[in-house]
Amino acid sequence: MDYTRGELIHEGKAKRVFAVNGQEDLIWLEFKDDLTAFNAEKTGSFEGKGQVNLAITENLFAEFKRYHIPTHWVSKVSATELVVRKLEMIPLEVVVRNILAGSTAKKFDLKEGTELEQSIVELFYKSDELGDPFMNEDQALMLKAVDSKTELEQIKQMALDVNDILVQTFLKADIRLVDFKIELGKNSKGQILLADEVTPDSCRLWDKSSQKKLDKDRFRRDLGSVKESYEEVLARLTSDKKSEATV
Ligand code: ADP
Ligand code: UDP
Repeated sequence: MDYTRGELIHEGKAKRVFAVNGQEDLIWLEFKDDLTAFNAEKTGSFEGKGQVNLAITENLFAEFKRYHIPTHWVSKVSATELVVRKLEMIPLEVVVRNILAGSTAKKFDLKEGTELEQSIVELFYKSDELGDPFMNEDQALMLKAVDSKTELEQIKQMALDVNDILVQTFLKADIRLVDFKIELGKNSKGQILLADEVTPDSCRLWDKSSQKKLDKDRFRRDLGSVKESYEEVLARLTSDKKSEATV
């Protein structure tokens, strides 16, 4: 199937969103080379970032498909462009944590790197104006970010299922999945699908032996080698696949 790009609908921080000509139920995502942090207060970019992030997303969404997680993926149309199902996005950033880092470690003055006995799910309200504030489940219902408690449970379960797949996939690449954020949306039948991307922008990834950070924290904290780290994640994910295929 050939798709043609329509008008620009939305310019986000990391992607541009376009219509797909003649296909009301689809949209076209272009992965940009831009990087932002701290609600876009810090900005940067590196050449090839869009391409490496789409390639990582492609690999991980192939795993989700293998494990029957419903996603928005339709077709990759170039190295930086992707056609997906247009969803009514749920205005939540759903974060899963396996190891403490970032805002939660800071808030409770706990040591970054503390391994959690049980993975936890946190909800943030997706709003650039408000700076994506943390919200609890009752608040998610109050703001009608979700329709019901059942839907909330479904979202949390999906996030934990995605976590199980990602933990295993990254472990095979000698990477510890510290935490990550996903976004979900609903199709016209009301079914919840995994949307957006899963990349080093949206995950914290540490090398299994050295604990070296291989994700956006290198940019947030000015640690250098941002491009090299993203490329390293992709190389490890794909070399792992190659070695599996030859077994
Ligand atoms: P942001 O808008 O947060 O800066 P991006 O630059 O990644 O983020 O822009 C992509 C936008 O597309 C986001 O608003 C995201 O919620 C939205 N999006 C991702 N997948 C879908 C989808 N399948 N249907 C509709 N919108 C989507
Ligand atoms: N995250 C994200 N987008 C956001 C906020 C968080 O992708 O707008 C990811 C982040 O990269 C990390 C996880 O979600 O992998 C948890 O982030 P945390 O709440 O600790 O954010 P922090 O305030 O530390 O940046």
